[in-house]
Amino acid sequence: MKKIDAYDDYILKIKDLVTEIKIPGQIIKPVEIENFLIPEGKIVGLAGESGSGKTMTAYSILDLFPTTAARVREGQILFKDKDLRGLSGNSLRKIRGQEIGMVFQDFSKIFNPVIKIGKQLKEELTAHGIKNQQERIARALDEVGLARDVADRYPHGLSGGMLQRVGIVAALICNPSLVIADEPTTALDVTIQAQILDLLKDLQAEKDFSLLLITHDLGVIADICDYVYIMYTGKIVEVGDVYEIYEAPKHPYTKGLLKGAFSMQGEEKSIKRPIKGSIPSLSELPQGCRFHPRCPEVMERCREQEPPFFNQEVACWLYEN
Ligand code: SF4
Repeated sequence: MKKIDAYDDYILKIKDLVTEIKIPGQIIKPVEIENFLIPEGKIVGLAGESGSGKTMTAYSILDLFPTTAARVREGQILFKDKDLRGLSGNSLRKIRGQEIGMVFQDFSKIFNPVIKIGKQLKEELTAHGIKNQQERIARALDEVGLARDVADRYPHGLSGGMLQRVGIVAALICNPSLVIADEPTTALDVTIQAQILDLLKDLQAEKDFSLLLITHDLGVIADICDYVYIMYTGKIVEVGDVYEIYEAPKHPYTKGLLKGAFSMQGEEKSIKRPIKGSIPSLSELPQGCRFHPRCPEVMERCREQEPPFFNQEVACWLYEN
């Protein structure tokens, strides 16, 4: 597969994005992304440990921060070559839902528990001026393998797996060209996880939308993604096509994540080997390479100087030449 930066058309291009959060006495930066690309019709993963800035990246794209203390400070978020940062609140709301759909981790917190599913879906269609709502909802429920009478039920009457399917309906019902799925299977048990992933993969192939899949689980990325970005403390440390990265990871952090997910032969391990130590607090980042306190290949200069992104592939001094 060609390199991610070798396409003609991208649904999303992020450039020099900095997101900041004000905390007492300090400003922290949960996202600092120089380059991030999603080619049209491709599935791109964003992976890293919990706390690496993945979800904040999604919030930054959609301006959906859960707190007013967070904001995008600088950079461009080009969706179909239009900078989302330059749009008014109304224009951005129209794009959210209609052109960019979002699948959340846990829809029990997203749907209103006292309003029937069908009514909530109709509200979304009305907000985007879409008619033939009854028929559209019925068809969308068919597509995710749910009975049509689910529309007459309340969210609390559905299992986690059913609710996640309804969440996928909500994300796709306006036929968006980009879907962002943030840990869409994390809250589910293993069997249901596989079903939801297969469903997302099938729907993406059928409808040809681009998909950004955010997950800490590299097994999930391996199952359905074309490309993967690896994120650590808000920065991208490696990017590449999934096959190449899983065959020959470059960044020591990526190697560590993969060892925690697979054996060297690619078979799932019963005993996983996590990376030593833990992700540092954004308010106390180490000098030099942010990964150096945990890196098994650390060199002297790593403690002093932060590595740039070499060859549009990896941010690590080992690849300087
Ligand atoms: Fe490890 Fe140095 Fe590479 Fe950072 S720059 S990942 S510390 S080898």
